[in-house]
Amino acid sequence: MIRQQPDSFVAEVLTAHGNADLLIRQAMEFRPNSVVIVDEGQFSKVFQALDPLGIKVFAGEKALNAVVEMETVDVVLTALVGYAGLQPTFRAIEYGKQIALANKETLVIAGDLITKAAMEKGVNIYPIDSEHSAIFQCLVGDFHNKVEKIILTASGGPFRGMKREELVDIKASDALRHPTWDMGAKITIDSATLMNKGLEVIEAKWLFGLKNDQIDVIIHPQSIIHSMVQFEDGSIKAQMGLPDMRLPIQYALSYPKRIKTDLPRFDFTDYPALTFEKPDPETFKNLKLAYIALEKGGNMPCILNAANEIAVEAFLKDEIGFLEMPEVIGKCMEKMAFIHEPTFEDYVGTDKETRILAKEIINGKLT
Ligand code: MG
Repeated sequence: MIRQQPDSFVAEVLTAHGNADLLIRQAMEFRPNSVVIVDEGQFSKVFQALDPLGIKVFAGEKALNAVVEMETVDVVLTALVGYAGLQPTFRAIEYGKQIALANKETLVIAGDLITKAAMEKGVNIYPIDSEHSAIFQCLVGDFHNKVEKIILTASGGPFRGMKREELVDIKASDALRHPTWDMGAKITIDSATLMNKGLEVIEAKWLFGLKNDQIDVIIHPQSIIHSMVQFEDGSIKAQMGLPDMRLPIQYALSYPKRIKTDLPRFDFTDYPALTFEKPDPETFKNLKLAYIALEKGGNMPCILNAANEIAVEAFLKDEIGFLEMPEVIGKCMEKMAFIHEPTFEDYVGTDKETRILAKEIINGKLT
């Protein structure tokens, strides 16, 4: 996106968890002031490649928290996976940086604290998640009008329409083939279990200040309508296009402007039928668990998220089956101590304890 709009955007800092080669390649092309490689074992490799170019190289998780403070940074785009995004995002907000948010888990875990801090610091959180970008785009021009409800669309994942008995023997390799979006392993599994949609329901509550019963989910296998807003007069606005993350990424950075792109255009005659189905939360229990966590509030979404991260990890290693993922998460939600109004430290503690508990459940120490 930056490559195509070099006059509009400058990458001041680039970060990576462990992919040193890609970080080096991107830094050579975009010449940021600094880079961070979180995996400290790769520091010397990155340093040797980029130091001669005058690019500062930092390593480790703490460096992530430090670079978001830099005065030359206007916008922080957070695209870390899972819980790891929480602290740097919180830090960036504290330093008054505008946020382009691809890390939905941050809002799932601590949506109350994050939105409160953003409000206090005058920080806007621009969604990159395609559904939330769609909602945001539908709201532009209607910010003063009340929303009756939003309708989040879901592709349904590779196992759409299947029943429980068909899902028993599903392996990670089956789940990693997503029909319409090409994404990382964690989010692809989350799409297959519908947890991704559950997390997005919670994300939407915080981004758009909605009540729980104002958020609907509908299965739309073609992934052309990215989501919809229904207003109080009954009118529904939808945002549409081919599934391509470059558009929501660009809009989060260019808002309120739209910048010309040469992305492929959608042609209605290529899709003569756009179809819609009700989700099946009895088969895909994670969606149901997410609504329960949302309803319960407090640290429950944090418990849901931590248990899910451990369950997905175990599923990716073929340690547990597809249908066992919601079982692990459900047990954690039952057994963990509920905190009604958690502090930041409570969230950190809940996350840590839930992970331990989830691992114990997976290893069969607890039933
Ligand atoms: Mg999404």
